Amino acid sequence: MRQALLAAVTLLFTCSLIAEPALNLIYFMPSDVEAVPGYEERLDKIMRYIQDFYNQEMTRHGYPDKQMKLPETADKRVKFTALKVEKDRSHFGYSGGGGPAIQEIEAFFRANPNERHSQHTLVIMPSFNDDPYNPGGVPFYGMGRYCFALDYPLYDLKYLGKPNREGQLLTKWLGGMAHELGHGLNLPHNLETKTERLKRGTALMGAGNYTLGQRPTFLTAPSAAILNNNEIFNPPGETYYRGNPQLNVKSIAVKRENNTFIITGQATAKTPINAVNLYIDGAPYGHVNNNYDATAFTVKPDADGNFSFQLAMDEIERFVPEDYQVRVDFLHINGLSSRWTKEYIKQ
Ligand code: ZN
Repeated sequence: MRQALLAAVTLLFTCSLIAEPALNLIYFMPSDVEAVPGYEERLDKIMRYIQDFYNQEMTRHGYPDKQMKLPETADKRVKFTALKVEKDRSHFGYSGGGGPAIQEIEAFFRANPNERHSQHTLVIMPSFNDDPYNPGGVPFYGMGRYCFALDYPLYDLKYLGKPNREGQLLTKWLGGMAHELGHGLNLPHNLETKTERLKRGTALMGAGNYTLGQRPTFLTAPSAAILNNNEIFNPPGETYYRGNPQLNVKSIAVKRENNTFIITGQATAKTPINAVNLYIDGAPYGHVNNNYDATAFTVKPDADGNFSFQLAMDEIERFVPEDYQVRVDFLHINGLSSRWTKEYIKQ
């Protein structure tokens, strides 16, 4: 009995060690596609670069204990799970290939539950295109908590910041990977304010996929507030993205006075809210491809759920006064968010 108890305690302890949430990293190969040589070494450095970018930005925004975790080998290298599937590349192309790849990976996770480190998965596929200067053909986007990026022979951090073809290509696919990973980590698009652009460059979740590694690129405060509640930035033991947070909006008022937006409100929820994100999105809006220009702000509500934004309208780079949408996202501590929107259209 005591031995059984000890075994159970040991098992529990071991499980709690294993259960440290980390990003799932799948190197996905259709039956007729081979791994790009040296991918483990090259992508180890690339993933560490992206991890450092996120973690430094989380620290800068005041979350030094909220750091992205990657799966690691015993000797502390980034661990990729190579998955070769039975179907060929015709099932996994850029257009429509993401869903079938997710089905294969979910089946793999069901059969190998220890390989699932969290609910977030980055899928890397070797380019289907043989020209090393023109990689592509594979999915490259976010789908829920999955995101897709690619590998190609010149995908190597040694070209970082180089003003040559390899360097420009690297920024395109490295910035793209970091940006798509953001989507896979719950981040929507957003645009930097004018002050931020002067001070910090381009927001990763705006056009930062074209600048990372070449020009200043940063994470906005609203992005950091979302990652603060992300499963792989937090210690094990909590349950993420489950249940109905039961938002109760008591009031929201949007005013434009002189040159200032004043947005105030009060909201409570069954799942506590620890930040409120605000997006001001000029027309067109509403679809994922229309929100790159959504200028974003964040505040922390008080204990009663009151929040207040005061923004100079000059800060909004692409303001469309005759037609814009205000989105308010309430961020719950379990990673879910609840949205309130309103359109302001001049008649
Ligand atoms: Zn995007």
